[in-house]
Amino acid sequence: MVLVSIKCPDCNSEDIKKNGKDKTGKQRYLCCNSNCTRRTFITEYVQNGRLKKVKDKVVEMALNGSGIRDTARVLKISPNTVLNELKKNEILLKKLT
Ligand SMILES: [Zn+2]
Repeated sequence: MVLVSIKCPDCNSEDIKKNGKDKTGKQRYLCCNSNCTRRTFITEYVQNGRLKKVKDKVVEMALNGSGIRDTARVLKISPNTVLNELKKNEILLKKLT
């Protein structure tokens, strides 16, 4: 048996508890860091767009002049996910649309 150390994808805390299973049978975890905005997570996210590092990349690519479709293709997420992320940053959205 191989033990893999599990870290919260947002705060990198290793203070993690098991928190049941989700609908598809994946192990859910609960972040015990009280300063962390994320409460529960699973280790294998099916949707890349839900990961914070991908969201950061969306903003970074927008700043570098990538369009919504380019960004979506490179990051393997849907254009809607890109758009939703950029809506939180209206200045970037105005530059791209
Ligand atoms: Zn956390």
